[in-house]
Amino acid sequence: MATEREILERAGERIDQLITSDLPDKRRVPLLYRAANELYGGSPTLLAAEKLAHAFSEPGRTVMICSGWPNRPMVDPNIAETDGPPGASVIARALHQGFRAAPLLLFEEPLLPSMRIVVEAAGLRALDGEAALRGIKSLGSVHVAGVLGFPSGVMEAKARASELLEEYRPAAVVVIEKGGMNAKGVIHSLRGEDITAPMAKVDFLIEEASARGILTVAIGDAGNEAGLGAFAEVIRENLPFGKQCRCPCGAGTAPRSAAEVAIIADVSNWGAAALAGCLAMLRGESSLLHTPARERRLLEAAAAAGLVDGIEGWVGTSVDGLPMETSLAIVELISTTVQQGMKSADPKRVAPHLA
Ligand SMILES: [Zn+2]
Repeated sequence: MATEREILERAGERIDQLITSDLPDKRRVPLLYRAANELYGGSPTLLAAEKLAHAFSEPGRTVMICSGWPNRPMVDPNIAETDGPPGASVIARALHQGFRAAPLLLFEEPLLPSMRIVVEAAGLRALDGEAALRGIKSLGSVHVAGVLGFPSGVMEAKARASELLEEYRPAAVVVIEKGGMNAKGVIHSLRGEDITAPMAKVDFLIEEASARGILTVAIGDAGNEAGLGAFAEVIRENLPFGKQCRCPCGAGTAPRSAAEVAIIADVSNWGAAALAGCLAMLRGESSLLHTPARERRLLEAAAAAGLVDGIEGWVGTSVDGLPMETSLAIVELISTTVQQGMKSADPKRVAPHLA
């Protein structure tokens, strides 16, 4: 008979299969996923969930979650894509609901009006940092999240990273779908172009948090994202522009900063749903699961806030060229997998620190 540990690991790997089957048919995710699975010796999603559950075992801790991809900056700095912010909101809700964590979401300053709309679609009232902390202390009378700007300028970002970590002392920093700097500090699009200027430089937050011993988790779907530096070699050797970009820096798209755990998914939002699923499984609480109804609400809010499909460029509910129905189906399948896993695993015996 399988032990509970084996049941959890198997469920984690089956959840990973759902989010790494290469539905977009770009051939990079299976490659990155294999590298991640090998590096961690099992499911990256389950590992990230376990580390988060441990980091938030004391209630009331702060989590910083970074997202936002300004991807048509030559047209307008307010344009961002539908992948990332909905997932960031899903993680914020799961950690808040499951661990009474105080979520602080960090985005590029020009994106904040749109991002508040997306965050609130997850059920969390978007406030400034101070109000969010007051909200958390009000013991659930209102569920809140801080929504703050993080700088795109290098010096400002470096300074802000230290200030924020000092001020809020988070138990974890999570980065989902953010362009990451390469060794020369240049951030690239998938097509190997320089997109450094408008992107918030969250690499500094990852690096400073790691230096302070704070848990860092990254989610990415293409290999040019912040926090995926553990796979830099795989990216350099196998992905187009990994080694040689199309910008004058010449150093390729492989990111320099490595989060403690990096989750790979066909679509970064799905990585967030999978992470919430693993948290639900570890806690034995199905209420922590992300739901297709809430995914629809998030994507409809994203469209209403003017977010565009990062590939197709339409304002709408599709993500990375895949229709909303595909995202809803993936969320449903994750939920089924988790519930099947929960039927046989007893989280209290597997992870006594969560009991
Ligand atoms: Zn370059």
